Amino acid sequence: MQTVLISGGGIAGSALACLLRHRGFAPTVVERAPGLRRGGQAVDIRGVALDVVARVGLLERARQVRTRMRGMSLLDADGNEIERSTEATYSSGRLDSDDIELLREELVQMLYEGAFDDVEYVFGDSITALEQDEREARVHFAHAAPRAFDLVVGADGLHSTVRRLVFGPEEDFAHHLGSYVAVFSADNFLGLDNWQVWLRDGDAGFGIMPVRDNTELRIAFGFQSEPLDGDHRDTDWLRQTVADRLASLRWETTRLTKAAWEAPDFFCDAMAQIRMERWSHGRTVLLGDAGYCASPLSVRGPAWPSSPPTYWPTPSARQRATTAPRSPATKNACGPSSPSTRRWRPRTPAARPPRGPSHGPRTPSHSTTDPRTPMGEG
Ligand SMILES: Cc1cc2nc3c(=O)[nH]c(=O)nc-3n(C[C@H](O)[C@H](O)[C@H](O)COP(=O)(O)OP(=O)(O)OC[C@H]3O[C@@H](n4cnc5c(N)ncnc54)[C@H](O)[C@@H]3O)c2cc1C
Repeated sequence: MQTVLISGGGIAGSALACLLRHRGFAPTVVERAPGLRRGGQAVDIRGVALDVVARVGLLERARQVRTRMRGMSLLDADGNEIERSTEATYSSGRLDSDDIELLREELVQMLYEGAFDDVEYVFGDSITALEQDEREARVHFAHAAPRAFDLVVGADGLHSTVRRLVFGPEEDFAHHLGSYVAVFSADNFLGLDNWQVWLRDGDAGFGIMPVRDNTELRIAFGFQSEPLDGDHRDTDWLRQTVADRLASLRWETTRLTKAAWEAPDFFCDAMAQIRMERWSHGRTVLLGDAGYCASPLSVRGPAWPSSPPTYWPTPSARQRATTAPRSPATKNACGPSSPSTRRWRPRTPAARPPRGPSHGPRTPSHSTTDPRTPMGEG
């Protein structure tokens, strides 16, 4: 049986492990984090990804854990609602489509469990050196003893170690796309009920969605920036960078900043794309963000707003990711501006209305009822 070492247990690495197991390979996944990495907002399974998930037998499970958004509001910098939609959201596109939006961490967990019996996962370790010839690839690890594999796959993200070891330094291949994104969780201090809010303030903006039956928020904060001079693994520096940018915003700065400092799942990285002339060398190949995927901006796998030039810090034409455009069906996700401009106020727990139908067990249908009352406005 052919042995395959996959560096990185994110979406790309875990999905490949599942697929290889189905094809009779013996995959081993080495993940630097001590366990599966939680965090992140939602990602979408759409297009060919639906076929892939079906092929590994996880389509029903994915449908069960999908998000149940009822719509979204677009706010101005002061928190006034300027648009709303019950037909589509920026994160998922049309709510009546067959695409599946689910939390990134749910997808990783699902893929992990789907491969669990037959795939070896090694957490808390990383490749440190790699030699290959026509017979095998010999791999050295930070902790484990060296081992030989038939193939090595670098699915270890934008800052891939495999790419650096086999192809060269990151700066030879990385193209900055003009902005950064941070994603972190918080208590649902806005009282959102399966409803997203998006806001743009100058060269920064965020999208906030409630998750886990509305008990938690996932905040995605994006800001335009040239490449920052710092260590992408230094979380304190990244939290400070995000806090500095949040300080210039006008809406909910204090609570957002507190969440950025306290969230255990805080994630922040550049929007960037690796561009290479080839993705394989000898017995090594790159996959996902490590080789070509334009991180969240790809809109092919992960969910990210594809039609928000007026509110999300987007790359310039020069910086834009080389990626296929999203299907027209998911463009113009938000409806026209409502005639009135309403101040959208976060709901305090005391003002929260009794639980409506959408609070209870998730239902498979999407509500298109006016969500203003459940949002606790007015
Ligand atoms: C915590 C987190 C949150 C994210 N949140 C979002 C989001 O909200 N929305 C969105 O659209 N996209 C998000 N992304 C990015 C998105 O997951 C990727 O753009 C996309 O899924 C491609 O996945 P990937 O597996 O190629 O890379 P990644 O998802 O980045 O996974 C790479 C994996 O490799 C591991 N790794 C890195 N270096 C090593 C090493 N040397 N040895 C072993 N393992 C290593 C990392 O810990 C990670 O688990 C997030 C990524 C992460 C890691």
